[in-house]
Amino acid sequence: MRGPEVTDTARRALVTGVTGQDGGHLAELLHSKGYEVFGLIRGQRNARREALEREFPFVRLIEADLTDQTSLIHAVATSQPHEIYNLGAISHVGYSFRNPQLTADITAKGVLNLLEAVRVSGLSDSTRFYQASTSEMFGGLDYNRPGAGYNENSLFHPRSPYGVAKLYAHWIARNYRESYGMFVSTGILFNHEGERRGLEFVTRKITNAVAAIHLGLQDHLALGDLWPKRDWGYAGDYVRGMWQMLQHHEPDDFVLATGETHSIEEFLTLAFAAIGETDWKPYVRQDPQFRRPAEVDILLGDPSKAERVLGWERTVDFPGLVSLMVQHDIQVLSRHA
Ligand code: GDP
Repeated sequence: MRGPEVTDTARRALVTGVTGQDGGHLAELLHSKGYEVFGLIRGQRNARREALEREFPFVRLIEADLTDQTSLIHAVATSQPHEIYNLGAISHVGYSFRNPQLTADITAKGVLNLLEAVRVSGLSDSTRFYQASTSEMFGGLDYNRPGAGYNENSLFHPRSPYGVAKLYAHWIARNYRESYGMFVSTGILFNHEGERRGLEFVTRKITNAVAAIHLGLQDHLALGDLWPKRDWGYAGDYVRGMWQMLQHHEPDDFVLATGETHSIEEFLTLAFAAIGETDWKPYVRQDPQFRRPAEVDILLGDPSKAERVLGWERTVDFPGLVSLMVQHDIQVLSRHA
């Protein structure tokens, strides 16, 4: 199994989950900074390979799977990375309820496999490792900091197989930092969205449908509960935070969030306003199939540590995010209309 050969000139980064939303933003950022970017791609005939090669021709793809240790050792040996960004995961909460074992194998054990691959390759002193942790680990039961946003010291109480798997991943990553002195940082990221978000997430589902309604391609939208609240930021800002974590002089844990929380209903209101509709109700139906067995009522993060220690800043606010996504989807759908 041969992969691309490394050159000695640039800094090298290995990204798992490169076909996902954050993978795309991060690959672009690293490329703009002169990195040689390696991306893991899994499975035979991965449907996303062609799109990735078209959009990011500079990403050097290595076939590997987070559940296959041998393939990860090969990927690490081939890319000799200065930095690893572990973004690969089953990342959808609803899906994780239907596929809990697969979620555990990939989202939880995958990070252990990758950390071990770094260790057995003898690169644990030279490779910096980013673990994509998540606000879903908190579970939205705000009993330890009532009223305030979750920070790096808040109590965890995950409410989905996804959140539980991510909590294992978070702790095993911290454990490798403490046990082996590896440079392992975790980013506890609150929801982050944008034009690359998958349609299975509520924000993109809404903006895609609003654009389709605007263009006369669709007449309604079916959703689950509208009252849950999320701290929604722009993914482009969040991947910059990941990179900043690995440039810091020591490994640590950081919350990335906006410090604001909004309901799905507020998102809907702004999305329909972007196409000049003041009332979204005639277009939205409630469908119980989109409800979760256990819901996270409210997520609100406190990003003050990342702002203070890393100088992390956001460029897109909540109305800006909704508008950016609706405008993008109108453009994309008009091309096919
Ligand atoms: P999550 O916060 O990682 O679960 O991100 P999602 O975008 O999948 O869901 C955000 C919130 O929207 C959750 O409270 C969901 O229960 C709620 N929601 C309501 N209707 C829908 C829907 O049709 N699809 C999704 N994905 N979520 C929905």
